[in-house]
Amino acid sequence: MSTPLTPDVTTIPRKQEPGLPNLIGMTRDQLMQALADVGTPEKQIKMRTGQVWQWIYTKGVTSFDQMTNLSKDFRALLSVNFQLSRPEIVTRQVSADGTRKYLLRIAGGHEVEAVYIPETNRGTLCISSQVGCTLTCTFCHTGTQKLVRNLTAAEIVGQIMVARDDLEEWGKPPGDKRLVSNIVLMGMGEPLYNTDNVRDAMLIAMDDAGIALSRRRITLSTSGVVPEIIRAGAEIGCMLAISFHATTDAVRDVLVPINRKHKIAELLQACRDYPRLSNAERITFEYVMLKDVNDSDADARRLVRLIKGIPAKINLIPFNPWPGSPYERSSWDRIEAFADIVNNAGYASPIRTPRGEDIMAACGQLKSATERARKSRAQIAKEIEGK
Ligand code: SAH
Ligand code: SF4
Repeated sequence: MSTPLTPDVTTIPRKQEPGLPNLIGMTRDQLMQALADVGTPEKQIKMRTGQVWQWIYTKGVTSFDQMTNLSKDFRALLSVNFQLSRPEIVTRQVSADGTRKYLLRIAGGHEVEAVYIPETNRGTLCISSQVGCTLTCTFCHTGTQKLVRNLTAAEIVGQIMVARDDLEEWGKPPGDKRLVSNIVLMGMGEPLYNTDNVRDAMLIAMDDAGIALSRRRITLSTSGVVPEIIRAGAEIGCMLAISFHATTDAVRDVLVPINRKHKIAELLQACRDYPRLSNAERITFEYVMLKDVNDSDADARRLVRLIKGIPAKINLIPFNPWPGSPYERSSWDRIEAFADIVNNAGYASPIRTPRGEDIMAACGQLKSATERARKSRAQIAKEIEGK
């Protein structure tokens, strides 16, 4: 593939405004309360909340001055009490295949990545939910990152907002004509270790008077935090993807260590109980293809038996290597043979073409450059023990 491996956009770090509460990331109720707290007259609160919400989430304004249907005095009141702050784009890299990887800086100087993947009939933004990840799936680069904190709701919905800024998307009606038509929570972090903030951010993104993404265009991927899957179904209602990756507890215990706590049977029961499942709303099972580890015909047959009765689609992900990774990608023949078995059992089994490989934007490769400190094997083992 040709070029650009160097960032095409680099921003000089801007200091985040300290202190003032950020209106971005507040739920409608929180926004209403915040406006009340600074003295908005009671009978105006509902209207003002609607107006401010619309400026932020349909027009994408970045300053209070742009909220031109609000009186000067009210804008001044807002600007002395609040900020409107998004993550800052530190670098943007554009892959030869059109994939865009954003390195974003958030409060505390932390960095996270978001990846935009254009396709013919949709555009998907892959967003992060944590800086790093406390889980230690052995094939995943993010799991080796040391520093971890949960992203705030503002930082999560803010990733959608900066992508929309960059793609000049504000003001466009919802639907598949949009560049960012779909969201996947498949970047850095385990979204269900940060359920409240992920929920608030997604409810903001789904709000009809704002970004207005349909819940069916949002997919949350989890390694299998079973109790939180139940909550996500009830409180977010988005589509669910499970990082499955193995068909026996013995293998899954190693690849996806949270399996030691929530075994395959328990995980699949939570899937069966997930609300609104139908042929139109299927669970995606992600399955990373690791040579000689989980890619045999017997695995494919076991997989089909395990998920029997669950409306499902199997997403086969050729392993994306990273420096020092302990696995190899299965051969294409092997991946296709595996896909055929799953397919013949009646499940769609697309093989995910790696996107943005030249810029390390593919699944599991995300990890911020400033935080590359690798955990030691001993530390990983200790953390697994502690779970
Ligand atoms: N923590 C969540 C979401 C982020 S990972 C989860 O684990 O589901 C998004 C997907 O990429 C998961 O299915 C993950 O297992 C997969 N993945 C991680 N590392 C990978 C790699 N090196 N190659 C291919 N897929 C990988
Ligand atoms: Fe965390 Fe998901 Fe990577 Fe596992 S696969 S380490 S849960 S980001």
